Amino acid sequence: MKRTTKLLTMILAMAMTACTLTACGGGSAKGDTLTFGTNAEFPPFEYVTSSGVIGEYDGIDMAIAKQIAEESGMTAAMENMEFDSLLVALQNGQIDAVIAGMTATDERRETVDFSTPYYTATQVMIVKEDSDIAAAADMADKKICVIQGYTGEVCVQDMGYTYEAFKKGTEAVMELTNGKCDVVVIDSATAQKYVSDNEGLKIVEDPSAFASEEYAIAVQKGNTELLDKINKAIEKMLADGTINELAVKYTEEATAE
Ligand code: GLN
Repeated sequence: MKRTTKLLTMILAMAMTACTLTACGGGSAKGDTLTFGTNAEFPPFEYVTSSGVIGEYDGIDMAIAKQIAEESGMTAAMENMEFDSLLVALQNGQIDAVIAGMTATDERRETVDFSTPYYTATQVMIVKEDSDIAAAADMADKKICVIQGYTGEVCVQDMGYTYEAFKKGTEAVMELTNGKCDVVVIDSATAQKYVSDNEGLKIVEDPSAFASEEYAIAVQKGNTELLDKINKAIEKMLADGTINELAVKYTEEATAE
């Protein structure tokens, strides 16, 4: 009898150890929850609304995140933070993955791993309708606004221009509408949203100056287990047209508002 109790206790202790070592606590995917980080200031990919697909968050990325979690038998949770903090939070283990219209750049690849790309974008210039800016080179003597930490900032930096960096796209666009800056450099789909929301603005494209960019989901370096799940879901959503449909749906919603 005593022996049996001891054995049971041992088995229980072993089971508990196994539990803490695997999926029951800690680890990258916390139990049944897959925690993503985003910066919900980037419509139509992520924004705050009264009833979103994940809590108060809605957009193309939010719908994709939800489906990735579901396909992996988990529930998606979203943590909203500054764009600049996302990769640090990922490395700290505060979040499992980043989905934030994030361009997979070589610089970022030094610290994180990226999924299969799910969307192609490019940087564009938002200017006032009567602006004489017709190409990137015309920005040389203009007041340029970018958003801190976005690839748009890196582009303008690489071109050697001086600029002012804002925390949010809406802040940069407000500077433009108020006549305090001449041009905002930002991702194409988000630019379209701002132009349809604000009178008197237009988009200027310059494909020779701005290379195309691919959005992908970031995970901690070496987290192949999670990356495989994410890739499987993304590849399915690309093949069956889900991502395309979401892009159309949210772009129409964004412009209809
Ligand atoms: N695609 C841009 C980048 O990766 C902007 C992303 C964003 O603001 N969410 O920097």
